[in-house]
Amino acid sequence: MTDYATEKERASLANASDILSLIASGTANSRAALLAASGMSRVTVTQRLNVLLGVGIVEETLRTLPSGGRPTRVLGIRGSAGYMLVADIGETHIHLAAMSLAPDLLAQSTIAFSIAEGPVATLQRMTGEFDRLAAGLGQGFLVAVSLSMPTPVDFKRGRVVGPSVLYGWDDFDIVSWLGRHYKAPIYVENDVNLMTIYEHRHNFPLVDDMIFIKAGTGIGSGIIAGGKIFRGAQGAAGDIGHIQFNSPDAPLCRCGKLGCVEARAGGWAIARDLAEKGLRAETARDVIALVEMQKPEAIMLLRRAGQTIGEVASDVVSILNPSLIVVGGMLARGGDFLLSGIRELVYQRCLPLATGELKIILAEPKTDSALIGAAHLVLDDVFSPAKVEDFLARFISKRPS
Ligand SMILES: [Zn+2]
Repeated sequence: MTDYATEKERASLANASDILSLIASGTANSRAALLAASGMSRVTVTQRLNVLLGVGIVEETLRTLPSGGRPTRVLGIRGSAGYMLVADIGETHIHLAAMSLAPDLLAQSTIAFSIAEGPVATLQRMTGEFDRLAAGLGQGFLVAVSLSMPTPVDFKRGRVVGPSVLYGWDDFDIVSWLGRHYKAPIYVENDVNLMTIYEHRHNFPLVDDMIFIKAGTGIGSGIIAGGKIFRGAQGAAGDIGHIQFNSPDAPLCRCGKLGCVEARAGGWAIARDLAEKGLRAETARDVIALVEMQKPEAIMLLRRAGQTIGEVASDVVSILNPSLIVVGGMLARGGDFLLSGIRELVYQRCLPLATGELKIILAEPKTDSALIGAAHLVLDDVFSPAKVEDFLARFISKRPS
């Protein structure tokens, strides 16, 4: 393999970075597409591509397209060129994994999580588990560490912002703490945004404007606008669960306000109403279990929750004009009982121009979508035009010779 130690060779690698960014983003997955997308000459594209193939960050494989015909040569990031450490922190468990750059799961484990333990002890246990997973992979290039949090996160500062279910974590500097342990970029993001990124990058890469609604114990949403996640100034964009509707019987929310969407339609609120009717329910999972048992009270309340979510979704549609709304989370397992109410209110309240092309669908139930989203977040960022050159420099210096 070529040694890229000299200045000239480093420069040729830097030149190749824009080609790498086009391949990683999926903009170009063949030599012909690279020519068209880069605007460079055939000779330049070939030279720069050869540099990337030479250092082993890009691979060219023969693939038969779904449409059939002869296999064609496809360019992509070489999955085994590095790995990421990702974790999804839930309310009772932490799911940790090592993932390839494909991204595919290479190794995973789950550890118990208690809020009472606090951030330092929890992060210590997590790094221990990450180190164990990484050791099992043998030698490799750590691209980044990426965490999914069940709370609002200020993405730019990499911190949990309260009030949230993780008291004690508010404003704790997770990035600096982990940065002392890993010489790699650290990412911290909210789980709903990561589930949104997963739906977009994995299932609907061609949709530029979409909303993901997580209807679980709480209610939240993530926004893809112009092909990118939209976070807002402090990372709080899409927090539809705490939008309030006035009514004489406005219920008290976990946040302390009256009449929030979540206090009407969240899993905990439906469970509260079912318990008042004498049914045993505490969580969103209990609600869905009662729906699956065809309990009419549970079905009625889930339909009504759908209408409440539809009411707030119609405002979101009027502002953002998405072409797709994907509804996920535990309550989405109630299927049409939830979806019909959302559709009803959105189509009733929005103007035809906003709903003409709009599809409202259920997400496929998938427990590790935030985890895979955390990997996509890393890949989108490290291969972005602004950062890809730094990535290549780091890749070359860590590459085993
Ligand atoms: Zn609230």
